[in-house]
Parts: sequence; structure tokens; C-alpha cells
Amino acid sequence: MPLAFTPKDWESRAKEMGLPAFRGRQIFDAIHRRGVTSFEAMTELSRADRRRFQDLFPMALPEVVRREASADGSVKYALRLSDDALIEAVFMPRGEALASAESEFADARAEGPGGRSAAIRPPRTPPGERATLCLSSQTGCAVDCRFCVTGRLGAGRNLSGGEIVGQYLAVRREHPDTSLSLVFMGMGEPMLNFENVAQALKVFTKTISPRRITVSTAGFPDGIRRLGELEKVPNLAVSINAADERTREEIMPVTRAHPLAEVLAAMKAFPLPPRRRITAEYVLIDGVNDSVEDAKKLGRLLRGLPVKINVIPLNPDPRYLPEFQPPSETAIDAFVEELARQKYTVTVRRSRGPDSYAGCGQLKGRAADSRRR
Ligand code: SAH
Ligand code: SF4
Repeated sequence: MPLAFTPKDWESRAKEMGLPAFRGRQIFDAIHRRGVTSFEAMTELSRADRRRFQDLFPMALPEVVRREASADGSVKYALRLSDDALIEAVFMPRGEALASAESEFADARAEGPGGRSAAIRPPRTPPGERATLCLSSQTGCAVDCRFCVTGRLGAGRNLSGGEIVGQYLAVRREHPDTSLSLVFMGMGEPMLNFENVAQALKVFTKTISPRRITVSTAGFPDGIRRLGELEKVPNLAVSINAADERTREEIMPVTRAHPLAEVLAAMKAFPLPPRRRITAEYVLIDGVNDSVEDAKKLGRLLRGLPVKINVIPLNPDPRYLPEFQPPSETAIDAFVEELARQKYTVTVRRSRGPDSYAGCGQLKGRAADSRRR
């Protein structure tokens, strides 16, 4: 799929067509720096060459079929792939909050109790601002975490490398002046589509620093190892979600195949550049894993690992997740305080309004619904 071609790939295609290699690099730059996906518009090529490339390498971006904007400025996009499968991607302004732990913690505290309904609304992202884009890697997820809507809806197929890159280009087109950080925290488990995610990363890291890209996994040790072996290693996030094996088995059945100890060992072995840390994600669920005792255990579990902890209050869904409720504000505060007391850097990814999506972790795709329509 041409959208997943690297500069080298385009260079060899150009050479095969009897053109100098720099023509290939020009095509890569047109697509990935200027967002041009039609050869017709690449006027740096001759008319005849434009036509030849167009015939050989037709490129189509996923189609944006729905946009849901929320008051905090985030936008959830539904994108239709060529086989009609739907995926979701979420644009989140002020994305640096995800990357910079301290600011998010300060932010969460400043909102105080009842932060969810805080009246202060950040303005729309002005031009030149940074944002984070949450990307999907599959059209569903077979991992079956009990608290995850994507998981409840069941397995999907892998996105191709070109579809992953196309997803980014399609959303970037809607926010041309925003510089995007990327997180693989949308639909699917990136490590179960490793080759295509790695191919997309090769392309992304030509124009985006790997420091601004994060791959999130439910905890596949082999995938974590392979990610660490890439030429350009992105940030790693691991969904820990429970402080002991038994609770984790209940909410993340994948724990039976890949016990926590193995996941933690893979995290320990992950090659981290200086001053970078792994994000340990923890979805906080009322009465399941949100006690101060759980926070104490979590602190002990992660002791010695180079992590920052991202606490994500459950995003409820009465239809798909009727048995799970979000934690109380008091429980969130007590949980965070205990981890802070243990000297962890903690961030809380809060919903900032009733129509907010709390970033990712609530993505449905809904391919089936759309076919019915
Ligand atoms: N499969 C990968 C990436 C996609 S899920 C993974 O599991 O890490 C991205 C994040 O959303 C994970 O941390 C997951 O625990 C979280 N998540 C899933 N369902 C959620 C929900 N209902 N509320 C809040 N976060 C959720
Ligand atoms: Fe899949 Fe991640 Fe959802 Fe688990 S949390 S079901 S791994 S998308």
C-alpha cells in the first residue's frame, strides 16, 4: 500500500520507472509533509509521470464519515476503510498533557472535587498548537478486556500499514496547522498487528520524533521486546489495570497467557533513552481495583521500574459495560494520593465534561450498525 512506503521505497519505485531517486523522495515529502495524496497535484512531476504514478500507485485515504466534537475541543472521528469497516480516531487538543505527567496532575488537582463538570473550558486549539491523535490498529479487539467496549464488540481485522498511515493523514487534513503527537490507544491491540504498526512507525518517524509517539499494549511481552528492537523506539505504555494477578485475570483474561511477572520483566528490559519513562496505565473501576489497598499494592508491584502512572477513571457505557461503574472522586483522589506518597509521578486522564470521551478507551467503530443503515 503506497501510503506505507518509506522514502527508500519511493526512491526505488522512481528508479524502476527510469527516474532519478530524488523524484521518489519528492513524492514522499508531498504526501507526508504537505498532505497531498493525489499525484495530479504533485506539480513537481511531469504531467506524464504524474499519470504513470497515478495508474501504478493509486492512494485513497479512509473516508471521514462522522465527526463528534465535545466541549473540551476533542473530536472523535469515524473513518470508513475500503471494505466498509469502521474505525475511530480521537483528536485531543492540549495533547502535551498526555506526555507531560506533572502538568496533567497539577491540572487534575486544580479542578478540585467535581473536576468533571469544571466550568473552565480550554479554548479551541489555535493554529500551530499541539494536539494528540489517538489511532486504531485493528477494527476490533480479540483481547477481551472486560471493561473495554472495543473488546466487548469482539475481534476485528488488522489495519494495513497504509490504513494506519491513511487514518493519520485523513485526520491531519482536518487540523492542518496542528502538530500531532500520536498514541496507539484506539481500537485494537497494536502488538497483535505488529508488522503493520512497525511499518507505519517507520513512516511516521520520518516526520514525527519517536518521543512524540506512544504505543499502548495490554501486555504482550514479545511485542514489547520487538518494539524495543525497532530502529526508532517510540514510547511504551502498558495497561496494567490491576495490582494483583487474580484481579487482573478477572478483568483482563489475557493475563492467564501472559502473567504480570512476564509483563513487568519485559518492561524492565525495554530500552529507555535517558529521562524517558514507560507509562503504566491503570483504568480505575469502582469496587474492582480502586481501593487505597490497591494503590498500595500497585506501588509495590511497580517499585524499581522506570514508570509514570496514568490513572484513567473508567469511561462508563451502560449498554456495553452495564456491570462496571466509574470510581467516585474521593476514590480517585485517595488512589492518586497514595501513589504520590510513594513518590510516583501520577497523571489522571479525566473527562472534562459530560460529552467528553476521556481520550480513547471508548471506541466502537460500529461497522455492523453502519451496514444495517
Ligand atoms: N489495546 C491497547 C491499546 C488500546 S486500549 C491497550 O489495551 O493498551 C487503550 C487504553 O484504553 C487502555 O489503557 C485501556 O485499558 C483503556 N480503556 C479501555 N476501556 C476503557 C474504558 N471503558 N474506560 C477507560 N479506559 C479504557
Ligand atoms: Fe483490546 Fe486494549 Fe480494549 Fe483490551 S483494552 S480489549 S487490549 S483495545
